[in-house]
Amino acid sequence: MLEYYWLLRSVLRAKPHLRACLTRCRHCRIFFLTHPRNAGRHDLGCPFGCRQAHRKAGAAQRSADYYHSPEGKRRKSDLNQRRPRKYCAPRLPGGPPQVQSPKRRPAQPGQAQWPPAMVEHVRMVISLIEGRRISRRRVLEMLARVLRQLTIGRRRKIDQTVAWLNEEPP
Ligand SMILES: [Zn+2]
Repeated sequence: MLEYYWLLRSVLRAKPHLRACLTRCRHCRIFFLTHPRNAGRHDLGCPFGCRQAHRKAGAAQRSADYYHSPEGKRRKSDLNQRRPRKYCAPRLPGGPPQVQSPKRRPAQPGQAQWPPAMVEHVRMVISLIEGRRISRRRVLEMLARVLRQLTIGRRRKIDQTVAWLNEEPP
C-alpha cells in the first residue's frame, strides 16, 4: 500500500500532466489514476475490486428493479408461459460443448493469474506514463518479471537469514 502511494507520487512528480487524472475511489477512498476521459470525476470506483463489485451489484439491482416494475412482471410471466414444462437439451456428438469466453485466453502453466481489471488498469497507467499504447501482453510480461524479482528478493532474504543463523546459532 505504501509502495503503491510512493510509486503514484513519483509518477505524478515525473509526469505532472497526469495530475488531472488523479482521482479517488468513492467506495474505499484510495487514490488512483484514471483515463483522461474521466479526468475530474469523483464518482468512480477504483480498479482494485470496488468498480467490479459495485458494477455487479448495480446490474443485479437494475435487474431486480426491472422485474418488479409492471412491465417487467408482464415480461417475466410471458417468459414463464413460453418456457416448455420439461426441456431436454439436444445431445451433441462428442460430449458437452466447450464454453469459452472469447476474451480470456487459457492460462499458461506457471503463469500467475492477474485480475483482468487490474491488468487493464496497469496497462492504461503505463500507456499514460509512456505516452504510447502498451499492449496487454507487454503488461503481463512486465508483471511476471516483477513477480520473479520479488520472489528472488524474498528468497535472498531467507538465504541470508539461514546463513546468519548458521553463523550465530541462537
Ligand atoms: Zn475502491
